[in-house]
Amino acid sequence: MSNQITFASLNLAEPIMRAIVDAGYTTPTPVQAQAIPQVLAGGDLLAGAQTGTGKTAGFTLPILHLLHTKPAATSRAGRPRCLILTPTRELAAQVEESVQTYGKYLSLKSMVMFGGVNINPQIKSLRGQVDILVATPGRLLDHVGQKTLDLSAVEILILDEADRMLDMGFIRDIRKIIALLPKKRQNLLFSATFSDEIKTLADGLLHNPGYVEVARRNTTSELVQQSVHMVAQKLKSHLLSHLIKHNDWKQVLVFTRTKHGANRLAEKLNGDGIPAAAIHGNKSQSARTKALAQFKDGSLPVLVATDIAARGLDIDMLPHVVNFELPNVAEDYVHRIGRTGRAGSNGAAISLVDSEELQHLKNIERLIKHQIERVAIDSFVPPTHLPPEAPRPPQQNQRRNAQPAPRKPASNQAQPAKPRNTSGSHQPAMSKTSVHRGR
Ligand code: AMP
Repeated sequence: MSNQITFASLNLAEPIMRAIVDAGYTTPTPVQAQAIPQVLAGGDLLAGAQTGTGKTAGFTLPILHLLHTKPAATSRAGRPRCLILTPTRELAAQVEESVQTYGKYLSLKSMVMFGGVNINPQIKSLRGQVDILVATPGRLLDHVGQKTLDLSAVEILILDEADRMLDMGFIRDIRKIIALLPKKRQNLLFSATFSDEIKTLADGLLHNPGYVEVARRNTTSELVQQSVHMVAQKLKSHLLSHLIKHNDWKQVLVFTRTKHGANRLAEKLNGDGIPAAAIHGNKSQSARTKALAQFKDGSLPVLVATDIAARGLDIDMLPHVVNFELPNVAEDYVHRIGRTGRAGSNGAAISLVDSEELQHLKNIERLIKHQIERVAIDSFVPPTHLPPEAPRPPQQNQRRNAQPAPRKPASNQAQPAKPRNTSGSHQPAMSKTSVHRGR
């Protein structure tokens, strides 16, 4: 059904149609085809869609139309008519970028607000017209506390990646924010998964919602070619350097389990002559923004990220995603590889798997309901002299439906080639990964 829907048939205002043409979109994605008419009709919406499906335009295009065609009742200085809440700073920035892209021929004004940066420029912006506010919950509540933001004119509320907001512990902040909004408003809730917690939130928030679900939960895109290389932890960084150089990869997003591991890997790659930067919650916002911009424009070939930092990153046609360690929450695998093979382009997701991670691999394969191909790298010759092994990333607290990893390494680990020197000892886990909140 959705195949027959064209942008023209959605009856979006002409300036929005022009921006869609400029963006190069010819056909609405399934989530857009289903969500846009329902949002335009003014009802609440519950949408099951992951990043990579075009969900951002799925809510941005119709809200721009609604706000554009219905003039504001009152003065708009510091009084947004639409509030979009996101879990992370990066996602907030990207959503607001989309609002600007699709709304560039409209007179509506948007603003993004998140923590980790000076609050004063945000306070200054709030003195002017703001129609659409994209915010992370913590900083938004800071503004409310300082009385620099007035939420009494909000007509539309959007919770984007609501599941991740709950995972990150934002439920109380979300409830506080909802309590500050006018009772009569339109509510849209986007989530990649539907836990009981999400259902409870949706039940309390949405009134007679329309329902949209695009990719089945926990399915991986067929456009992503997935493979596993079995390799000992201490050889992983060497194998990764080899893969990048040997295959001349130009743009690789690498996931590590910890911030510390991300830093160490970026250093090692730089040492191997491969420009790389780490992006995680301990980095300043300006360092993160700079690394992301360089990665996007192709001047930085490797970005090493933790799950939270990478959540919601929208990088067009990302060709390679590498799991330097498998996530111990199987659903995070689906989110990670959702960075590639997006909106119609092909991508490859490569996982470097040590024998101690086999249980994680099994959990992931059970979740995605197929076996990932094991591929040996014949061209890889491990170094003869290895420095003492870096500590293993700590096992994080298990969340959701994750299963514990086995304590003992499996005995049948395949390696890309036999290392001649395997010295180095395992050290105990050093630190707990802390979750970066979008304050
Ligand atoms: P999202 O799921 O919102 O993060 O979007 C994923 C990517 O799809 C973004 O890079 C969008 O620019 C792109 N996109 C969104 N809608 C369309 C469309 N109708 N046709 C082609 N690409 C699109």
